[in-house]
Amino acid sequence: MRTPELTLTPPKNDKFWQGSTTCDHCDNQIKGDLFDVRSYSGQWGTFCLPCAHRNSPMKMGTGSGQHYKQTTDGKWLKVAG
Ligand SMILES: [Zn+2]
Repeated sequence: MRTPELTLTPPKNDKFWQGSTTCDHCDNQIKGDLFDVRSYSGQWGTFCLPCAHRNSPMKMGTGSGQHYKQTTDGKWLKVAG
């Protein structure tokens, strides 16, 4: 008798940013716009808007970067990427 294989797909919730909200470059608390992007050096980083512009090609998409916007209830909603 065969046991049916259970393929459990974890719920994919990548709509909201769950990580740190401190900019990896300037160490400031990020407000308004948060970028999780691949920088020019190839390293991924969490950046505020000015640092993201300075350190990355600002290319959004899977494998390149994500842009999150802070909502009124303090969450970070993905708007691009
Ligand atoms: Zn910064």
